[in-house]
Amino acid sequence: MTSNVGQSYPYTSESEVERAVRVTGLVSGREDLAARLATETTPLDANDRWWVWKCPTRGCRGLLHAAGYARDLHAVYVVCDGTCAKTFLR
Ligand SMILES: [Zn+2]
Repeated sequence: MTSNVGQSYPYTSESEVERAVRVTGLVSGREDLAARLATETTPLDANDRWWVWKCPTRGCRGLLHAAGYARDLHAVYVVCDGTCAKTFLR
């Protein structure tokens, strides 16, 4: 399930290259993620830097990376790189 974490502040930021490498790695390691991104998001636009958030899941130390825009929702679709492996809307 994708939930909204709009109440939290960004933790840090990363370059487009760092973001792309991270998300590509996550997609290759998670069977369903590529299909979910394809159906639930549209591609990001050109941006030099992206915000990174701490994952709100209790016990998860992951960070949230932008992976696309949520379809029909004016939000960024972010993916946790930690143990919970959840997706969220920003
Ligand atoms: Zn997480």
